[in-house]
Amino acid sequence: MIQLYNVSKTYQNKVQALNGITLHINKGEFVFLVGPSGAGKSTLTKLICREELPTHGQVIVNGRSLPRMKNRQVPYLRRKMGMVYQDFRLIPNKTVFENVAFALEIIGASRSEIRQAVPEALRMVGMEKKLNMRPYQLSGGEQQRTAVARAIVNNPALILADEPTGNLDPDTSWELMKLFMDINSLGTTILMATHAWDIVDEMKKRVVQLENGVIVRDEEGGVYGHDH
Ligand code: ADP
Ligand code: ADP
Repeated sequence: MIQLYNVSKTYQNKVQALNGITLHINKGEFVFLVGPSGAGKSTLTKLICREELPTHGQVIVNGRSLPRMKNRQVPYLRRKMGMVYQDFRLIPNKTVFENVAFALEIIGASRSEIRQAVPEALRMVGMEKKLNMRPYQLSGGEQQRTAVARAIVNNPALILADEPTGNLDPDTSWELMKLFMDINSLGTTILMATHAWDIVDEMKKRVVQLENGVIVRDEEGGVYGHDH
């Protein structure tokens, strides 16, 4: 599903965020990406959704080489992935329904597809009763569940989550993780960058640890394992 070969990323300000990363993630895996701030976790997720391009190396997602992909093909790539962020990134003046529908509109889905898929996604995350609310009327957990509905509404093969529990309290964080486990058990690959050491320790999934742009550990059933 995801293959990186000897990937490096140097930003325009000469900061080298990643240095010679080789990483393979198979379909259906649940992978935690850990490491101190500045280790390169966000950069890695941005390379996988082609928000950034590598300076060197190869990034292959769903069999497609991203550095070689034309800009106009990027929407087709994003159809197969859902993104979830720490700050939710909902559109403030749109309702819950409209926020989720928007992910389908931008990929050209029909009205009937939207009418069918949006309520289904909202049901999956338990937000079906709040579909007419706007983000400011929701708790952080509800906003994040709406963002997850948006991420899964086009049945993605992959979910990329960058610190998705960073603004949630512990109970709400665990609710989100249960949702991710359900989504993962239906076959969706999940790559989650996180500082939530308690969640990583408890879930015993594959753990990839970055430090200074290098993978220093890649372990099945791993723990968080560095200073909290
Ligand atoms: P993490 O997610 O692990 O905190 P990042 O991938 O955000 O790490 O950052 C890795 C390094 O790259 C840091 O030194 C950061 O300051 C730098 N960096 C990240 N984004 C940019 C950018 N757009 N331009 C320049 N430097 C950046
Ligand atoms: P841009 O690429 O200009 O940021 P888009 O039209 O691609 O804008 O997306 C608009 C909004 O929809 C953004 O807030 C983005 O986070 C969200 N979005 C788009 N595609 C997805 C997706 N597959 N999963 C989750 N959110 C998405």
